[in-house]
Amino acid sequence: CKLKGEIDDCTCKVETISEINNNKIYPRLKSLLARNYFRYFKVNLKKPCPFWPDDSRCALKDCHVDKCKEEEVPIALKKGHENKYSKEAQNEGSCEEERELGALNTSLSDESKQAFEDWNKYDESQELFCDVDDESSAGMEYVDLLLNPERYTGYKGDSPHRIWRSIYEENCFTPQPEIGYGPSKKNSPSLCLEKRTFHRLISGLHTSINIHLCYDYLFQGNSIGYGNVAKWEPNIQEFKKRFDPKTTSGAGPQRLKNLFFTYLVELRALAKAAPYLEQEDFFTGDTEEDLSLKEGIKDVLSIIKSFPDQFDESKLFAGNPVEAKLLKEEFRTHFRNVSRIMDCVGCDKCKLWGKLQTQGMGTALKILFSGDDVGPDSTVNAHHKKHFQLTRSEIFTLFNAFGRLSKSVHSLEKFKTLLNDPM
Ligand code: FAD
Repeated sequence: CKLKGEIDDCTCKVETISEINNNKIYPRLKSLLARNYFRYFKVNLKKPCPFWPDDSRCALKDCHVDKCKEEEVPIALKKGHENKYSKEAQNEGSCEEERELGALNTSLSDESKQAFEDWNKYDESQELFCDVDDESSAGMEYVDLLLNPERYTGYKGDSPHRIWRSIYEENCFTPQPEIGYGPSKKNSPSLCLEKRTFHRLISGLHTSINIHLCYDYLFQGNSIGYGNVAKWEPNIQEFKKRFDPKTTSGAGPQRLKNLFFTYLVELRALAKAAPYLEQEDFFTGDTEEDLSLKEGIKDVLSIIKSFPDQFDESKLFAGNPVEAKLLKEEFRTHFRNVSRIMDCVGCDKCKLWGKLQTQGMGTALKILFSGDDVGPDSTVNAHHKKHFQLTRSEIFTLFNAFGRLSKSVHSLEKFKTLLNDPM
C-alpha cells in the first residue's frame, strides 16, 4: 500500500492512475459494461488443450459457467460479430478481381477450394496477436458475464501452476536470474524494452486475476468469525500473502506495479483507437439504446484520450528495421502461444475470463503494433491490408479486458483501507 511513484518504462505515476481511474474511468466503465452490448461473450470453452493432455473437467462448484440459451441473447448482438464493413468490403472487389476469382472458383476441386479458403484465413490470422475462437466452430456458446463474475473459484495447485509456469518460462521472456517467475527489473541487462514490456504485461494480468480472487473471496460457512453462512468478501490475508514484500521475497510491490503498467498499455490502445471507435455504430437493435451506448462510449473515451503521460508505443520496435521485424514476430508468436494456453486452464470460470482478457490484450497489441493506420477513415476497403479494422468481438474483449484492470486498480483502494484499519 506504500506503492507510489512512476511505473517502470513509463512516465505516469501510480497516484495519477489511481485517481483518474477510481474517480472517472471505473464508474463509467462499470455502467457501460453492464449494458447488453458488452454482456454476452461468445466463446468456445470446449476447445482441447493443444499442449498437453487435458487435465480440466474440474469438479469445483465455483468453476461452473452458466451458459445462455440462444434465445436469451438479443438477435442484433448475435449477428454483428464480423466488422460492420465486412459485407461492404466483400462487395467491393474490382470486376477484374471478381472475374479472376470466379474463374478460379469454378476450375478448382472442392479440396483445393477448401485449401484456398484456409490459406486466406491463415494469411489474415498472421496479422493477429491472438488465437481467437473460430466463430462458426461447434462448441461456441454465449455466456452472460454479469451472471459469471470473475472471483475466487478454489482453482489452485499443479494445474494453474503448470499454466503460469509454461507462460513465464517458455513464452514470456522472463529474466533468467528470475525464472521462478519473479519481477522484471527496469534495467535488467539481458532484456530489451520489448521483452520487458511483454513480461510486465503478463505479470500485470496475473496480478489482476489474483486481485479479483482476493477481492471477491469465498469465506466458507465455518470460517472463524463467519458463523454458518458462506460470504463473498475481500480477503486481506490472501492479499497480503500474494503482495506483501515479506511473503513474496520482495516481489509483491513490483507485481502490483505491473498491473498499473498493463493498465497503461490497454488505456493507450483505447486512446489510439478512439477516432475509429467514435465512428462505430454499436448496433444493439434498439435505436435509443444505440444512441445512449454511443454517448457513454464517447464519454469514457474522452477521459481516456486526455489521460496524461500515456504509454509511448513508438519506442518499441524502433531499432534496426530487420531486427525490429524479427522481434515483433517473436513477440506475436509468444503472445499467440499464451492465448492458446488459455484452452488448457482446468477451471471453466477461470478459462472464460482468461480467454477474454488475453483476447482483449491481443486486440490492444494489434492496435498499438500492427503498423496499421488507425483513424476515422481507416475502414474503407478490406482488400488493402493497411486499412485498420476491429471486429465486434475485438471491441467487446478490449473494453471488457480494460474493465477488469480498471476494477483491480479500484479494488486496491479497498485493500488500502482494510490494511490501515486497526481492526
Ligand atoms: P499463483 O498465482 O498460481 O502463481 C504461481 C507463481 O507465480 C507464484 O508462486 C509466484 O512465484 C509467481 N507469481 C505470482 N504472481 C505473479 C505476478 N503477478 N507476476 C509474476 N509472477 C507471479 N483462481 C481463482 O480463484 N479465480 C480465477 O478467476 C482464476 N483465474 C485464473 C486464470 C488463469 C488463466 C490461471 C492460470 C489461473 C487462474 N486462477 C484463478 C488461479 C490463480 O491465478 C492461482 O494460480 C491460484 O490461486 C494459486 O495461487 P498461488 O498462490 O499458488 O500462486
